Amino acid sequence: MENKLEPVIGLEIHIQLNTETKLFCKCKNEYGATPNTHICPVCLGYPGALPVLNEEAVRLALKVALALHADIHKLSRFYRKNYFYPDLPKGYQITQYTESLATGGYIEIETSKGYKRIRLERMNIEEEAAKSIHTDTGEVLLDYNRSGIPLLEMVTLPDMNSPEEARTFLEKLRLILRYLEVSECDMEKGELRVDANISLRKPGEKLGVKVELKNLNSFKSVYDGLNHEIERQKKILQGGGTVIQETRLWDEYKKETRTMRVKEEAHDYRYFPEPDLPPLVVRDTEIEELKKTLPELPDEKLKRFVSQYNIGKDQARILSLNKNLADYFERAAQVAEDKRLLANWINVEILGYLNENNLGIQEFRIHAEELGEFLNYVSRGKLSYNMAKDIFKKTLYNEESLKHLLEEALSSTISSQELEKIINKVLEENQELVEKFRNGKTGVLGALIGKVMKETRGRADARKVKEILESKIGSPKT
Ligand SMILES: [Zn+2]
Repeated sequence: MENKLEPVIGLEIHIQLNTETKLFCKCKNEYGATPNTHICPVCLGYPGALPVLNEEAVRLALKVALALHADIHKLSRFYRKNYFYPDLPKGYQITQYTESLATGGYIEIETSKGYKRIRLERMNIEEEAAKSIHTDTGEVLLDYNRSGIPLLEMVTLPDMNSPEEARTFLEKLRLILRYLEVSECDMEKGELRVDANISLRKPGEKLGVKVELKNLNSFKSVYDGLNHEIERQKKILQGGGTVIQETRLWDEYKKETRTMRVKEEAHDYRYFPEPDLPPLVVRDTEIEELKKTLPELPDEKLKRFVSQYNIGKDQARILSLNKNLADYFERAAQVAEDKRLLANWINVEILGYLNENNLGIQEFRIHAEELGEFLNYVSRGKLSYNMAKDIFKKTLYNEESLKHLLEEALSSTISSQELEKIINKVLEENQELVEKFRNGKTGVLGALIGKVMKETRGRADARKVKEILESKIGSPKT
Protein backbone atom coordinates (compact mmCIF):
# COMPACT_ATOMS: atom_id res chain seq x y z
CA MET A 1 0.00 0.00 0.00
CA GLU A 2 2.64 2.53 1.08
CA ASN A 3 4.79 1.65 -1.86
CA LYS A 4 2.10 2.84 -4.20
CA LEU A 5 2.84 6.48 -3.42
CA GLU A 6 3.82 7.92 -6.76
CA PRO A 7 6.07 11.00 -7.06
CA VAL A 8 4.69 13.72 -9.33
CA ILE A 9 7.29 16.26 -10.41
CA GLY A 10 7.14 19.48 -12.38
CA LEU A 11 9.99 21.87 -13.09
CA GLU A 12 10.34 25.60 -13.44
CA ILE A 13 13.45 26.57 -15.35
CA HIS A 14 15.19 29.87 -15.96
CA ILE A 15 17.61 30.14 -18.83
CA GLN A 16 19.88 33.14 -19.47
CA LEU A 17 19.81 33.93 -23.16
CA ASN A 18 23.23 34.70 -24.59
CA THR A 19 22.44 37.95 -26.32
CA GLU A 20 25.02 40.69 -26.88
CA THR A 21 23.07 43.15 -24.75
CA LYS A 22 20.51 43.14 -21.95
CA LEU A 23 16.77 42.74 -22.41
CA PHE A 24 15.69 46.37 -22.19
CA CYS A 25 18.89 48.44 -22.57
CA LYS A 26 22.14 48.47 -24.54
CA CYS A 27 24.34 47.37 -21.62
CA LYS A 28 26.55 44.38 -22.36
CA ASN A 29 25.36 40.94 -21.32
CA GLU A 30 28.68 39.57 -20.14
CA TYR A 31 29.50 37.14 -17.36
CA GLY A 32 32.44 37.80 -15.05
CA ALA A 33 33.02 41.50 -15.81
CA THR A 34 34.10 43.86 -13.02
CA PRO A 35 30.98 44.36 -10.88
CA ASN A 36 28.74 47.31 -11.73
CA THR A 37 30.47 48.23 -14.99
CA HIS A 38 27.66 47.22 -17.36
CA ILE A 39 24.94 49.45 -15.98
CA CYS A 40 22.78 52.35 -17.08
CA PRO A 41 19.67 54.24 -15.89
CA VAL A 42 17.37 51.58 -17.39
CA CYS A 43 18.86 48.53 -15.67
CA LEU A 44 19.42 50.52 -12.47
CA GLY A 45 15.73 51.41 -12.44
CA TYR A 46 16.11 55.19 -12.44
CA PRO A 47 12.75 56.95 -12.50
CA GLY A 48 11.72 57.90 -16.00
CA ALA A 49 14.15 55.57 -17.78
CA LEU A 50 12.35 53.74 -20.58
CA PRO A 51 12.84 50.08 -21.54
CA VAL A 52 13.34 49.13 -25.22
CA LEU A 53 12.87 45.45 -26.04
CA ASN A 54 15.93 43.59 -27.38
CA GLU A 55 14.74 41.76 -30.50
CA GLU A 56 17.63 39.33 -30.41
CA ALA A 57 16.32 38.01 -27.07
CA VAL A 58 12.89 37.47 -28.61
CA ARG A 59 14.46 35.70 -31.58
CA LEU A 60 16.38 33.30 -29.32
CA ALA A 61 13.30 32.59 -27.22
CA LEU A 62 11.25 31.90 -30.36
CA LYS A 63 13.90 29.47 -31.59
CA VAL A 64 13.48 27.51 -28.38
CA ALA A 65 9.70 27.58 -28.71
CA LEU A 66 9.94 26.28 -32.27
CA ALA A 67 12.42 23.55 -31.40
CA LEU A 68 10.21 22.36 -28.53
CA HIS A 69 7.04 22.27 -30.64
CA ALA A 70 5.30 25.00 -28.61
CA ASP A 71 2.47 27.23 -29.86
CA ILE A 72 3.82 30.70 -30.39
CA HIS A 73 1.38 33.48 -29.64
CA LYS A 74 1.20 36.22 -32.20
CA LEU A 75 0.53 38.69 -29.44
CA SER A 76 1.91 38.55 -25.91
CA ARG A 77 2.32 41.14 -23.24
CA PHE A 78 4.74 42.28 -20.58
CA TYR A 79 3.69 42.77 -16.98
CA ARG A 80 5.15 44.28 -13.87
CA LYS A 81 5.64 41.84 -11.04
CA ASN A 82 5.88 44.01 -7.94
CA TYR A 83 8.02 43.18 -4.95
CA PHE A 84 10.72 44.85 -2.96
CA TYR A 85 14.21 43.45 -2.77
CA PRO A 86 17.66 45.09 -3.02
CA ASP A 87 18.49 43.13 -6.18
CA LEU A 88 15.48 44.66 -7.93
CA PRO A 89 16.09 48.42 -8.16
CA LYS A 90 12.82 49.28 -9.95
CA GLY A 91 10.73 47.58 -7.26
CA TYR A 92 9.25 45.33 -9.92
CA GLN A 93 10.40 42.78 -12.48
CA ILE A 94 9.22 42.95 -16.08
CA THR A 95 7.89 39.51 -17.04
CA GLN A 96 5.13 38.00 -19.18
CA TYR A 97 2.77 36.48 -16.62
CA THR A 98 -0.49 35.18 -18.16
CA GLU A 99 -0.04 36.35 -21.75
CA SER A 100 2.89 34.13 -22.60
CA LEU A 101 5.16 34.17 -25.61
CA ALA A 102 4.40 30.49 -26.14
CA THR A 103 2.39 27.70 -24.54
CA GLY A 104 2.45 23.93 -24.91
CA GLY A 105 5.27 21.98 -26.50
CA TYR A 106 7.20 19.03 -25.17
CA ILE A 107 10.51 17.26 -24.87
CA GLU A 108 10.73 13.55 -25.46
CA ILE A 109 12.94 11.64 -23.06
CA GLU A 110 14.04 8.04 -22.93
CA THR A 111 13.14 6.28 -19.66
CA SER A 112 13.54 2.72 -18.44
CA LYS A 113 9.97 2.14 -19.63
CA GLY A 114 10.49 3.61 -23.08
CA TYR A 115 9.96 7.03 -24.62
CA LYS A 116 7.97 9.62 -22.73
CA ARG A 117 6.86 13.12 -23.55
CA ILE A 118 7.28 15.76 -20.88
CA ARG A 119 4.82 18.50 -21.75
CA LEU A 120 5.54 22.18 -21.32
CA GLU A 121 3.03 24.61 -19.96
CA ARG A 122 4.46 27.95 -21.01
CA MET A 123 7.50 29.98 -22.01
CA ASN A 124 7.94 33.59 -20.97
CA ILE A 125 10.58 36.21 -21.52
CA GLU A 126 11.56 38.19 -18.44
CA GLU A 127 14.43 40.17 -16.99
CA GLU A 128 17.06 38.96 -14.56
CA ALA A 129 17.57 40.52 -11.12
CA ALA A 130 20.93 41.81 -9.90
CA LYS A 131 23.30 39.41 -8.21
CA SER A 132 23.50 39.46 -4.41
CA ILE A 133 26.80 38.34 -2.94
CA HIS A 134 26.73 37.42 0.73
CA THR A 135 30.13 37.96 2.37
CA ASP A 136 31.57 36.07 5.35
CA THR A 137 31.19 39.18 7.50
CA GLY A 138 27.45 39.31 6.91
CA GLU A 139 27.41 42.06 4.33
CA VAL A 140 25.44 41.87 1.12
CA LEU A 141 27.13 43.17 -2.03
CA LEU A 142 25.16 43.85 -5.18
CA ASP A 143 26.35 43.46 -8.76
CA TYR A 144 23.94 45.17 -11.16
CA ASN A 145 25.76 43.80 -14.22
CA ARG A 146 23.28 40.95 -14.05
CA SER A 147 20.28 43.24 -13.66
CA GLY A 148 18.19 43.12 -16.84
CA ILE A 149 19.86 40.16 -18.58
CA PRO A 150 17.24 38.32 -20.66
CA LEU A 151 15.76 35.16 -19.19
CA LEU A 152 13.59 32.52 -20.72
CA GLU A 153 11.26 31.08 -18.10
CA MET A 154 9.98 27.61 -18.89
CA VAL A 155 7.41 25.70 -16.86
CA THR A 156 6.67 22.01 -17.40
CA LEU A 157 3.52 20.12 -16.55
CA PRO A 158 3.96 17.66 -13.66
CA ASP A 159 4.75 14.82 -16.06
CA MET A 160 7.85 13.42 -14.38
CA ASN A 161 7.51 10.56 -11.92
CA SER A 162 11.03 10.11 -10.59
CA PRO A 163 14.18 12.12 -9.93
CA GLU A 164 15.81 10.16 -12.79
CA GLU A 165 13.20 11.45 -15.21
CA ALA A 166 13.70 15.01 -14.00
CA ARG A 167 17.46 14.70 -14.52
CA THR A 168 17.04 13.12 -17.95
CA PHE A 169 14.65 15.89 -18.94
CA LEU A 170 17.12 18.57 -17.88
CA GLU A 171 20.01 16.90 -19.69
CA LYS A 172 17.95 16.75 -22.85
CA LEU A 173 16.82 20.35 -22.50
CA ARG A 174 20.39 21.53 -22.00
CA LEU A 175 21.54 19.60 -25.05
CA ILE A 176 18.84 21.16 -27.23
CA LEU A 177 19.57 24.67 -25.94
CA ARG A 178 23.25 24.19 -26.70
CA TYR A 179 22.43 22.96 -30.20
CA LEU A 180 20.31 26.05 -30.71
CA GLU A 181 23.19 28.18 -29.38
CA VAL A 182 20.80 30.21 -27.23
CA SER A 183 22.58 29.47 -23.96
CA GLU A 184 25.60 27.55 -22.72
CA CYS A 185 23.47 26.50 -19.72
CA ASP A 186 26.41 26.54 -17.32
CA MET A 187 24.70 26.07 -13.96
CA GLU A 188 27.74 27.27 -12.04
CA LYS A 189 27.40 30.62 -13.78
CA GLY A 190 23.66 30.64 -13.15
CA GLU A 191 22.87 30.38 -16.86
CA LEU A 192 20.43 27.58 -16.10
CA ARG A 193 18.44 27.49 -12.85
CA VAL A 194 15.89 24.98 -11.73
CA ASP A 195 13.09 24.91 -9.17
CA ALA A 196 11.06 21.76 -8.70
CA ASN A 197 7.52 20.97 -7.56
CA ILE A 198 7.11 17.62 -5.92
CA SER A 199 4.15 15.83 -4.45
CA LEU A 200 3.30 12.20 -3.70
CA ARG A 201 0.10 10.83 -5.13
CA LYS A 202 -1.86 8.18 -3.26
CA PRO A 203 -3.69 5.58 -5.34
CA GLY A 204 -6.97 7.00 -6.61
CA GLU A 205 -6.04 10.52 -5.60
CA LYS A 206 -5.62 13.20 -8.22
CA LEU A 207 -2.72 15.10 -6.72
CA GLY A 208 -0.97 15.24 -3.39
CA VAL A 209 0.11 18.41 -1.60
CA LYS A 210 2.81 20.16 -3.55
CA VAL A 211 6.11 21.28 -2.10
CA GLU A 212 8.31 23.66 -4.03
CA LEU A 213 12.01 22.92 -3.87
CA LYS A 214 14.55 25.69 -4.39
CA ASN A 215 18.31 26.12 -4.41
CA LEU A 216 18.98 23.27 -6.79
CA ASN A 217 22.33 24.36 -8.20
CA SER A 218 23.30 21.39 -10.31
CA PHE A 219 21.69 18.38 -11.93
CA LYS A 220 23.01 16.38 -9.01
CA SER A 221 21.27 18.75 -6.59
CA VAL A 222 18.02 18.32 -8.49
CA TYR A 223 18.36 14.56 -8.29
CA ASP A 224 19.49 14.41 -4.65
CA GLY A 225 17.05 17.09 -3.47
CA LEU A 226 14.07 15.37 -5.07
CA ASN A 227 15.07 11.98 -3.71
CA HIS A 228 15.42 13.44 -0.26
CA GLU A 229 12.08 15.23 -0.47
CA ILE A 230 10.32 12.07 -1.66
CA GLU A 231 11.64 10.20 1.39
CA ARG A 232 10.63 13.02 3.73
CA GLN A 233 7.08 13.20 2.37
CA LYS A 234 6.76 9.42 2.36
CA LYS A 235 7.62 9.27 6.04
CA ILE A 236 5.01 11.92 6.87
CA LEU A 237 2.26 10.25 4.85
CA GLN A 238 3.06 6.76 6.08
CA GLY A 239 2.97 8.03 9.65
CA GLY A 240 -0.57 9.29 9.04
CA GLY A 241 0.43 12.97 8.83
CA THR A 242 -0.20 15.55 6.12
CA VAL A 243 2.35 17.34 4.01
CA ILE A 244 2.24 21.13 4.29
CA GLN A 245 2.21 23.19 1.11
CA GLU A 246 5.39 25.23 1.31
CA THR A 247 8.67 26.23 -0.30
CA ARG A 248 11.73 24.37 0.93
CA LEU A 249 15.43 24.92 0.36
CA TRP A 250 17.78 22.09 -0.51
CA ASP A 251 21.00 22.13 1.52
CA GLU A 252 23.51 20.11 -0.45
CA TYR A 253 26.04 20.04 2.36
CA LYS A 254 23.70 18.86 5.08
CA LYS A 255 21.74 16.77 2.56
CA GLU A 256 18.39 17.98 3.81
CA THR A 257 15.59 20.33 2.88
CA ARG A 258 14.24 23.00 5.21
CA THR A 259 11.31 25.38 5.20
CA MET A 260 11.82 28.67 3.40
CA ARG A 261 8.25 29.94 3.49
CA VAL A 262 4.79 28.42 3.94
CA LYS A 263 1.84 29.15 1.70
CA GLU A 264 0.38 31.88 3.91
CA GLU A 265 3.51 33.94 3.40
CA ALA A 266 3.22 33.78 -0.38
CA HIS A 267 3.59 37.12 -2.12
CA ASP A 268 0.85 39.04 -3.80
CA TYR A 269 2.79 40.50 -6.70
CA ARG A 270 0.03 42.86 -7.89
CA TYR A 271 0.75 42.15 -11.53
CA PHE A 272 -0.32 44.77 -14.03
CA PRO A 273 0.50 45.41 -17.71
CA GLU A 274 3.79 47.24 -18.27
CA PRO A 275 2.73 50.67 -19.56
CA ASP A 276 6.16 51.49 -21.03
CA LEU A 277 6.23 48.56 -23.48
CA PRO A 278 3.90 47.85 -26.39
CA PRO A 279 2.46 44.34 -26.74
CA LEU A 280 4.94 41.90 -28.28
CA VAL A 281 3.81 41.05 -31.79
CA VAL A 282 5.33 38.10 -33.65
CA ARG A 283 4.71 37.96 -37.41
CA ASP A 284 4.27 34.80 -39.46
CA THR A 285 7.10 35.82 -41.78
CA GLU A 286 9.39 36.12 -38.77
CA ILE A 287 8.51 32.59 -37.66
CA GLU A 288 9.06 31.23 -41.16
CA GLU A 289 12.47 32.92 -41.34
CA LEU A 290 13.43 31.52 -37.94
CA LYS A 291 12.38 28.00 -38.89
CA LYS A 292 14.95 28.11 -41.67
CA THR A 293 17.72 28.93 -39.20
CA LEU A 294 16.95 26.02 -36.87
CA PRO A 295 19.80 23.51 -36.80
CA GLU A 296 19.33 19.78 -36.94
CA LEU A 297 18.44 18.81 -33.37
CA PRO A 298 19.98 15.94 -31.37
CA ASP A 299 17.17 13.41 -31.92
CA GLU A 300 17.12 13.96 -35.67
CA LYS A 301 20.89 13.80 -35.82
CA LEU A 302 20.98 10.53 -33.91
CA LYS A 303 18.47 8.93 -36.27
CA ARG A 304 20.30 10.20 -39.33
CA PHE A 305 23.67 8.95 -38.06
CA VAL A 306 22.23 5.46 -37.59
CA SER A 307 20.69 5.31 -41.07
CA GLN A 308 23.24 7.28 -43.07
CA TYR A 309 26.41 5.81 -41.60
CA ASN A 310 25.02 2.48 -40.49
CA ILE A 311 26.45 2.81 -36.99
CA GLY A 312 24.92 1.51 -33.75
CA LYS A 313 22.38 3.58 -31.84
CA ASP A 314 24.56 3.79 -28.74
CA GLN A 315 27.51 5.06 -30.77
CA ALA A 316 25.27 7.56 -32.55
CA ARG A 317 23.89 8.78 -29.24
CA ILE A 318 27.32 9.51 -27.80
CA LEU A 319 28.34 11.33 -30.98
CA SER A 320 25.20 13.46 -31.02
CA LEU A 321 25.53 14.45 -27.34
CA ASN A 322 27.86 17.20 -28.41
CA LYS A 323 27.37 19.24 -31.55
CA ASN A 324 31.07 19.86 -32.11
CA LEU A 325 31.84 16.18 -31.72
CA ALA A 326 29.08 15.30 -34.16
CA ASP A 327 30.54 17.76 -36.68
CA TYR A 328 34.00 16.26 -36.19
CA PHE A 329 32.62 12.79 -36.85
CA GLU A 330 30.89 13.91 -40.03
CA ARG A 331 33.97 15.64 -41.38
CA ALA A 332 36.05 12.52 -40.73
CA ALA A 333 33.31 10.34 -42.24
CA GLN A 334 33.76 12.17 -45.55
CA VAL A 335 37.18 10.53 -45.74
CA ALA A 336 36.98 7.36 -43.65
CA GLU A 337 35.71 4.33 -45.54
CA ASP A 338 34.68 2.30 -42.49
CA LYS A 339 32.17 4.47 -40.58
CA ARG A 340 31.72 1.95 -37.78
CA LEU A 341 35.44 1.85 -37.18
CA LEU A 342 35.48 5.65 -37.18
CA ALA A 343 32.56 5.95 -34.74
CA ASN A 344 34.13 3.42 -32.45
CA TRP A 345 37.53 5.09 -32.66
CA ILE A 346 36.09 8.47 -31.72
CA ASN A 347 34.05 7.05 -28.85
CA VAL A 348 36.85 4.94 -27.40
CA GLU A 349 40.20 6.42 -28.35
CA ILE A 350 39.39 10.10 -28.73
CA LEU A 351 36.74 10.60 -26.06
CA GLY A 352 38.86 8.57 -23.65
CA TYR A 353 41.77 10.93 -24.25
CA LEU A 354 39.66 14.09 -24.09
CA ASN A 355 37.95 13.08 -20.85
CA GLU A 356 41.21 12.07 -19.28
CA ASN A 357 42.73 15.44 -20.11
CA ASN A 358 39.61 17.49 -19.56
CA LEU A 359 39.61 18.81 -23.12
CA GLY A 360 36.92 19.56 -25.64
CA ILE A 361 36.96 18.28 -29.21
CA GLN A 362 37.70 21.84 -30.38
CA GLU A 363 41.06 21.56 -28.66
CA PHE A 364 41.88 18.21 -30.22
CA ARG A 365 45.09 18.33 -32.30
CA ILE A 366 44.32 15.74 -34.95
CA HIS A 367 42.11 17.04 -37.73
CA ALA A 368 39.03 15.11 -38.69
CA GLU A 369 40.22 14.57 -42.28
CA GLU A 370 43.62 13.35 -41.05
CA LEU A 371 41.91 10.86 -38.76
CA GLY A 372 39.74 9.62 -41.62
CA GLU A 373 42.80 8.96 -43.80
CA PHE A 374 44.65 7.34 -40.94
CA LEU A 375 41.82 4.92 -40.22
CA ASN A 376 41.68 3.91 -43.87
CA TYR A 377 45.02 2.18 -43.36
CA VAL A 378 43.34 0.08 -40.69
CA SER A 379 40.21 -0.69 -42.70
CA ARG A 380 42.33 -1.65 -45.72
CA GLY A 381 44.33 -4.03 -43.55
CA LYS A 382 47.62 -2.16 -43.97
CA LEU A 383 47.83 -1.38 -40.28
CA SER A 384 46.60 -3.50 -37.40
CA TYR A 385 44.15 -1.98 -34.93
CA ASN A 386 46.65 -2.30 -32.12
CA MET A 387 49.44 -0.70 -34.09
CA ALA A 388 47.13 2.13 -35.03
CA LYS A 389 46.24 2.57 -31.38
CA ASP A 390 49.92 2.74 -30.42
CA ILE A 391 50.69 5.32 -33.07
CA PHE A 392 47.68 7.36 -32.05
CA LYS A 393 48.70 7.35 -28.38
CA LYS A 394 52.28 8.33 -29.26
CA THR A 395 50.99 11.19 -31.35
CA LEU A 396 48.79 12.48 -28.57
CA TYR A 397 51.04 12.03 -25.58
CA ASN A 398 54.48 12.62 -27.12
CA GLU A 399 53.37 15.29 -29.53
CA GLU A 400 54.85 13.33 -32.43
CA SER A 401 53.49 13.74 -35.91
CA LEU A 402 50.84 11.23 -36.87
CA LYS A 403 52.02 11.21 -40.48
CA HIS A 404 55.63 10.50 -39.56
CA LEU A 405 54.77 7.67 -37.17
CA LEU A 406 52.43 6.21 -39.73
CA GLU A 407 55.12 6.18 -42.45
CA GLU A 408 57.54 4.56 -40.03
CA ALA A 409 55.02 1.88 -39.12
CA LEU A 410 54.06 1.15 -42.71
CA SER A 411 57.69 0.67 -43.75
CA SER A 412 58.16 -1.89 -40.99
CA THR A 413 54.92 -3.74 -41.72
CA ILE A 414 55.48 -7.31 -42.67
CA SER A 415 55.24 -8.30 -46.35
CA SER A 416 52.64 -10.85 -47.40
CA GLN A 417 55.32 -13.35 -48.45
CA GLU A 418 57.00 -13.15 -45.09
CA LEU A 419 53.67 -13.49 -43.30
CA GLU A 420 52.75 -16.52 -45.41
CA LYS A 421 56.06 -18.15 -44.48
CA ILE A 422 55.53 -17.54 -40.77
CA ILE A 423 51.99 -18.89 -40.87
CA ASN A 424 53.10 -22.05 -42.64
CA LYS A 425 55.81 -22.54 -40.04
CA VAL A 426 53.38 -22.08 -37.13
CA LEU A 427 50.92 -24.53 -38.66
CA GLU A 428 53.62 -27.12 -39.16
CA GLU A 429 54.87 -26.80 -35.60
CA ASN A 430 51.36 -27.00 -34.13
CA GLN A 431 49.76 -29.92 -35.88
CA GLU A 432 47.89 -31.01 -32.77
CA LEU A 433 46.14 -27.60 -32.51
CA VAL A 434 45.20 -27.81 -36.17
CA GLU A 435 43.72 -31.27 -35.55
CA LYS A 436 41.74 -29.98 -32.58
CA PHE A 437 40.35 -27.17 -34.70
CA ARG A 438 39.30 -29.58 -37.43
CA ASN A 439 37.58 -31.70 -34.81
CA GLY A 440 35.41 -28.77 -33.84
CA LYS A 441 37.41 -27.09 -31.07
CA THR A 442 37.41 -23.78 -32.90
CA GLY A 443 38.57 -21.94 -29.79
CA VAL A 444 42.17 -22.98 -30.49
CA LEU A 445 42.26 -20.54 -33.39
CA GLY A 446 43.04 -17.76 -30.91
CA ALA A 447 46.15 -19.62 -29.76
CA LEU A 448 47.34 -20.03 -33.34
CA ILE A 449 46.79 -16.35 -34.08
CA GLY A 450 48.72 -15.50 -30.93
CA LYS A 451 51.67 -17.62 -32.04
CA VAL A 452 51.76 -15.98 -35.47
CA MET A 453 51.55 -12.51 -33.95
CA LYS A 454 54.41 -13.38 -31.65
CA GLU A 455 56.55 -14.56 -34.57
CA THR A 456 55.84 -11.37 -36.48
CA ARG A 457 56.57 -9.31 -33.36
CA GLY A 458 53.19 -7.63 -33.73
CA ARG A 459 53.87 -6.33 -37.24
CA ALA A 460 50.94 -8.20 -38.79
CA ASP A 461 47.25 -7.40 -38.70
CA ALA A 462 45.50 -9.94 -36.49
CA ARG A 463 42.37 -9.87 -38.63
CA LYS A 464 44.35 -10.69 -41.74
CA VAL A 465 46.20 -13.47 -39.90
CA LYS A 466 42.88 -14.94 -38.85
CA GLU A 467 41.60 -14.91 -42.42
CA ILE A 468 44.69 -16.63 -43.80
CA LEU A 469 44.70 -19.22 -41.01
CA GLU A 470 41.07 -20.07 -41.58
CA SER A 471 41.54 -20.45 -45.31
CA LYS A 472 44.54 -22.70 -44.77
CA ILE A 473 43.04 -24.96 -42.11
CA GLY A 474 39.59 -25.23 -43.67
CA SER A 475 36.31 -25.66 -41.84
CA PRO A 476 35.95 -27.87 -38.78
CA LYS A 477 34.38 -31.32 -39.32
CA THR A 478 30.78 -31.53 -38.26
ZN1 LIG B 1 21.57 49.01 -18.76
